[in-house]
Amino acid sequence: APATETRAFEADVARLLHLMVHSVYSNKDVFLRELISNAADACEKLRYRALTDPSVMGSDSALKVVVEPDKEAGRLTIADNGIGMSREDLVENLGTIARSGTRAFLDATAGKGDGSGLIGQFGVGFYSAFMVASEVVVTSRAAGSDEAWTWRSDGTGSFTVEPAGDEAPARGTRVTLILGDESKEFGEQATVERIIRHYSAHVPVPVVVRTPDAADAEAGKEVVDGTALWVKPKQEISADEYKEFYHFVSGNWDAPALTIHYRAEGRQEYSVLLFVPETRPFDLFDPERKGRVRLYVRRVFITDDAEVLPSWLRFVRGVIDSQDLPLNLSREMLQTNPVLASIRKAVTNRVLSELEKMAENDADAYAKFWEAFGAVLKEGIYEDGERRETLYKLSRFHTTTDPEGWRSLSDYIGAMKENQTAIYYAIGDDPEKLAASPHLEGFRARGIEVLLLTDPVDSFWVQAATDFEGKPLQSVTQGKADLDAIPLDDSDTDKPEAAREGDLAALTALFKQELGDRVSDVRPSERLATSPACLVAPDLGPDRQFERLMARQSS
Ligand code: ADP
Ligand code: MG
Repeated sequence: APATETRAFEADVARLLHLMVHSVYSNKDVFLRELISNAADACEKLRYRALTDPSVMGSDSALKVVVEPDKEAGRLTIADNGIGMSREDLVENLGTIARSGTRAFLDATAGKGDGSGLIGQFGVGFYSAFMVASEVVVTSRAAGSDEAWTWRSDGTGSFTVEPAGDEAPARGTRVTLILGDESKEFGEQATVERIIRHYSAHVPVPVVVRTPDAADAEAGKEVVDGTALWVKPKQEISADEYKEFYHFVSGNWDAPALTIHYRAEGRQEYSVLLFVPETRPFDLFDPERKGRVRLYVRRVFITDDAEVLPSWLRFVRGVIDSQDLPLNLSREMLQTNPVLASIRKAVTNRVLSELEKMAENDADAYAKFWEAFGAVLKEGIYEDGERRETLYKLSRFHTTTDPEGWRSLSDYIGAMKENQTAIYYAIGDDPEKLAASPHLEGFRARGIEVLLLTDPVDSFWVQAATDFEGKPLQSVTQGKADLDAIPLDDSDTDKPEAAREGDLAALTALFKQELGDRVSDVRPSERLATSPACLVAPDLGPDRQFERLMARQSS
């Protein structure tokens, strides 16, 4: 077999590389954050693997990332003694199997200018190396393997893989960047240290910077000590440190809207450091999207796939570190372990109570939060009956009273008319059309507030809607609205002459006859003020908007 094999990049990867190589991204520094984060991940994966197979750790148990700028040679090297990659891993991870994030990244940044802020979110971090390198060489030895391989590419179309020479690492991966002419600064120690301090300060693995002229090959400067921020006491952590850590765990660049940091003691001991982002991530509604809370057991990273929080809190990012869980948690145990179940429950409640506090203390910040994530939180109303009441309290709505602003159900209840028995809502996909709907006339004429629901998820949760503070939720298009008991707001303007009983009966009979099977009933109503007629759904059974949604989905 030939020693060197050349392979073509998968099509999306090739497009992505083209974008990176010809990058107009303003913030090239991010490449280093991405490569260090990959190296740290590799160390954490090794630590986890060693729990069940200590032989992979061997005597080299001081896991770390070593960054070596070499100005003379115009090179920058990032090395780790983590899990490493086999030949297949190199081919798949770095070139042929386009990961879902690749396409999503291309779509999200298409024609939108600076995508550098998005790189970390999409799982395309490795390729950002090509923003600064004219050639990237990755030499890696998978833990426990006696083979090492070298992957090499200039980022145009293809890459090669060949057996590594003698200089291969004993374990783990070394990424060498041959710096492009415009990127020579990344060979300078000061620049590299600055970037690491700025973007990678809270990586949970030590990061050492070493220059080629260091007297001792082992020496180097520890720029990041790898201690876990979440175990530090709150009062010793600055807002900036929290923010940097948030960037590390989320891959986002915004500031956290809410930081939740505490240590639970008692029956179970665990540390929690969670963040609610400020802005909506690109794939919030992607059904494949999992929660990205990182689960640790006694500082060992276990998984970011444990669904520690319910899916309707999938926008929360951060870390939960348990003292009591067994280290060898299997997939199955993640589902069934009672300790994890009780952590799940307690942390979910805590997130909700922190959101409640935010709503009480800072209505503006809460409104921003709600705009970004309210639609997701509302999924909880139908998924989690136990927390429905709390979620109702957290929910905000545009209403006929305040179509631009946000009203809570308590605001609504406080403004209910005398004799009003229900909380009324109208559903539609277009806010403007909805606000102009004839179904609202009778309510408007009586000054009755109506919730205007325009999120797709609204049709679902209203099916599960129960009472809020003793008031049922009722659709304005559904069944009888008991409006007779509530007087018109402006009783002397334009009040239509009361219809005579007999006329009304004759008219409805005529309608029934003409419409035949197409309607189940025709009846006089107080619902309208100026329009002559409208369609409503039966008292029982699905709402019209819901029916339409179902029809659309099954077609
Ligand atoms: P992500 O880190 O989000 O998965 P990247 O593009 O940064 O996306 O990396 C792609 C994949 O390449 C990683 O998931 C990992 O499997 C592999 N990889 C990258 N760098 C390393 C490394 N230093 N050690 C081991 N595997 C690595
Ligand atoms: Mg990465």
